[in-house]
Amino acid sequence: MAELKKCPFCGGEAKLNYVGTCIPLYFISCEECGCKQESSIHKEAVINAWNNRATEAEIRATAKRELAEQIEKRIKEEVALLEQEREEAREYDDEQVIFAVNNQLRAFAYSLRVVAEQLKGE
Ligand SMILES: [Zn+2]
Repeated sequence: MAELKKCPFCGGEAKLNYVGTCIPLYFISCEECGCKQESSIHKEAVINAWNNRATEAEIRATAKRELAEQIEKRIKEEVALLEQEREEAREYDDEQVIFAVNNQLRAFAYSLRVVAEQLKGE
């Protein structure tokens, strides 16, 4: 039998449990906090699921990174639109629009730096 990893929530010792009368059911529980996983008739599947379970910290880090990536994508789309708008304003020498667009682009550039910090600061 493969060795069981420690509990992903509290680091406690894990234990393989066996229940069932006519159909055998396996599940793993933590001896410390009592958390347990869904039971299965497949012992190896239960062990693999327990050992490959993401920790709370991993789940949070992934969610944070995905959110930052979505924000980065949206900002880049907005920046592309603004750059297009600025090109058009240049054709008509529209100083006011160019000035306004440049201000917005500076604000977005700042936002992108903040998002980039979030993405690498894990
Ligand atoms: Zn635990």
